[in-house]
Amino acid sequence: MARKKSKHIRIEFKKNRETRQRQADLTKDFHQSDEEIDTKSSERVSGKGNLTRRRTVTTEDDGRADNQDAASVLAVSEKDTLLGRVLRVHGLECVVSTEREEVYRCAVRRLLKTVSTDQRHVVVAGDLVRFRPEGKDQGLIVRVEPRRSQFCRSVRGKRHVLVSNVDQLLIVTSAAEPNFKPNLIDRFLITAEQNELDACICINKCDLIDPAELQQPIGVYAQMGYRVVMLSVQEGWGIEEVKNMLGTSTSVVVGQSGVGKSSLLNALFPEFNLRVQTVSEENQKGRHTTTTASLLKLPSGATLVDTPGIRQFQLWDIVPEELTTLFRDFRPFADLCRFPNCSHQHETDCAVKDAVADGLLDVRRYDSFCHILSDGAPSQGGVYDYEDFADDM
Ligand code: GDP
Ligand code: ZN
Repeated sequence: MARKKSKHIRIEFKKNRETRQRQADLTKDFHQSDEEIDTKSSERVSGKGNLTRRRTVTTEDDGRADNQDAASVLAVSEKDTLLGRVLRVHGLECVVSTEREEVYRCAVRRLLKTVSTDQRHVVVAGDLVRFRPEGKDQGLIVRVEPRRSQFCRSVRGKRHVLVSNVDQLLIVTSAAEPNFKPNLIDRFLITAEQNELDACICINKCDLIDPAELQQPIGVYAQMGYRVVMLSVQEGWGIEEVKNMLGTSTSVVVGQSGVGKSSLLNALFPEFNLRVQTVSEENQKGRHTTTTASLLKLPSGATLVDTPGIRQFQLWDIVPEELTTLFRDFRPFADLCRFPNCSHQHETDCAVKDAVADGLLDVRRYDSFCHILSDGAPSQGGVYDYEDFADDM
């Protein structure tokens, strides 16, 4: 048998490898579970300064090109690989679905994990990947296609991609039981803005109110360019409209419990129930680890990301200086404030406050802004739990 040709490439360090760990590293277990350590590659560290440090990796991969750089080694022949989308990641295993809806359980090629990256996980749910099938339903992911968007969680300035290639946030709320909470909608809209995603707002249980009651807040959101649908799953109102809003995009579902998310998903897609159950059984890991995202592909061509941890928590630290830019209706006025770092609270010549006084900005949106500003520091070690959102806010 012909010997596999070894190949040496020079690559950047990962962030977490820039300094060597001490032998008796007390947090070693933690580090290892966070980012699995690659033990098989041989590693050499030169005695040069930090800036010029590279790592030499010896690989037995089928390097086709002779160029000695990572990019060419990562070039992948499309001939013997399939294109798929990662539905979810379970430890070292990625569940990948092809265009023909065939599902493969894939490992990730070691070299992909070695190449420099800031991400905690090289492959996340939502990724489009090329993989080499092995046997009937197994495979090896050899390339991750560039992501067109990333839905992240950020705690104390560290970003962690939860799911990629997402188009919009589907915010599900209720007109009553639980109360309509526009201030909570505002927080979800911030998440959409932070991730540069579209947002659509579904207001369920409209059978319980006089729809005229919501005309004003809905007008405000519509004016800001967000799509709003009033519906009642119970009465069958507005379901088609929601279906149209989903289209063939990938939508992340968010909303407090009790607003009718499960009922809505069941009404949209009657076979949904089963799939949701299967996924949540696999995810029974407790409250703080359920941000592992799962994609559900629906017969209509829509894809939903419905994950308890994503539904439930505010996923970003709110940096007060950035809050104005996340309120899209404030932006045109904020540019006119006297002080560029105006907090729109106590400053003189504040164009935002003037706009509120002149009726050009919604008073409730302004109140909501002030609330978030004063309450912005997340509770629970960086994560704000929406389930704790008070009824009267
Ligand atoms: P989830 O926690 O967001 O998934 O909410 P569920 O789908 O479990 O619904 C919570 C409760 O609201 C259930 O008792 C549903 O029957 C009820 N519900 C759902 N949709 C409607 C609706 O359109 N109108 C009314 N009145 N009740 C609804
Ligand atoms: Zn101002």
